[in-house]
Amino acid sequence: MASTHSDVLAKIPDAYEAALKSGDLLYFPSTIEKHNELDIDFEITLCPALQKKQALPAPDFEVEATAADVRKDSTGKVDPFAPPYTSKLYVADLKDELSGEEFAVLLNKYSIVPQHFLLVTKEFRSQASPLLPSELVQTYLLLVAARRAGKHFFAFYNCGDNSGASQPHKHIQFLPTESSLGPPLEGLARRAQLEIAGRPFALPQLPYASHTFRFPTHMDSFGAEQLEKELSDAFLALLDLSISTVRHDPTYPPGRPSYNVIITLEHMHIIPRKYETYLLEKSGERLPVNALGFAGMLLVKSEQELEAVKAETVAKILRGVGLESVHEQQVEGTSRELQTML
Ligand code: AMP
Repeated sequence: MASTHSDVLAKIPDAYEAALKSGDLLYFPSTIEKHNELDIDFEITLCPALQKKQALPAPDFEVEATAADVRKDSTGKVDPFAPPYTSKLYVADLKDELSGEEFAVLLNKYSIVPQHFLLVTKEFRSQASPLLPSELVQTYLLLVAARRAGKHFFAFYNCGDNSGASQPHKHIQFLPTESSLGPPLEGLARRAQLEIAGRPFALPQLPYASHTFRFPTHMDSFGAEQLEKELSDAFLALLDLSISTVRHDPTYPPGRPSYNVIITLEHMHIIPRKYETYLLEKSGERLPVNALGFAGMLLVKSEQELEAVKAETVAKILRGVGLESVHEQQVEGTSRELQTML
């Protein structure tokens, strides 16, 4: 039976503790180093235990593989986000009021931040596909329920081959933050003074393309239809800009464009992506970057990697896996379009 969003949020802490205790969820301890750049207080998480992660999942996957062959894709790989779910990782089902579409809420099996959870589609949908209205609404309602419960979460979606995603079944992720201010990027977005409300904008401090939309105040009290329209319009406007950004780059890899989506109660951000990893000059290692890097939360596996990131600068890394901002040309294009319409 479908739960309410508040039920989901209420269940997360106990479900997390139970899954940790049973061994179905693995926790990787880490430390956080603050690093200020680009007017953002970046948090670089150092998690040495991740170096061993590759070896850890193998037995679990075997258990899951024998549980149900329907969970294997065409290449024989198990889809962990298809039912039947690992019972201790399963939290609840959700049903979208307008479309009737169904979702499951699962705990992230490999936890660096406790209570990190996922919203997955019941039916298989591709992680390379854009977010649908129902997915945006369910995401936002979970964020609203979290705030009502006195918790602070934000959501992110890694879309496409070069976005940092590791699972092909559509999943939106939710991460708690200690501060009510949200992820580090949010401070910069909040400080932006907008001349016109209701239009996407760029954060001029950032040396890469990043498209942001500020939601209307009190969007948490909108009815289902109004909320769906607001979220879908915002998403499409940002996606259009991201695709236009990609089109300005003649060396962009062929195929569907990749991008990261970050959603808070106040903003939606889409960051178009060109590459999945960045080659660190000092260590010679490839650093994977997903939406969290752009939210202001990079992840490293060793002190050596941490030093290499700082030597390289976060600005250079994010610019390296993102695209050049063409915001000025996009604004000029829009005002020219408006002039011809008037
Ligand atoms: P991404 O790497 O962006 O595609 O996100 C995949 C997320 O799913 C990561 O947070 C993983 O830790 C998590 N994950 C991977 N396998 C499982 C699983 N079997 N059950 C639950 N979460 C998983």
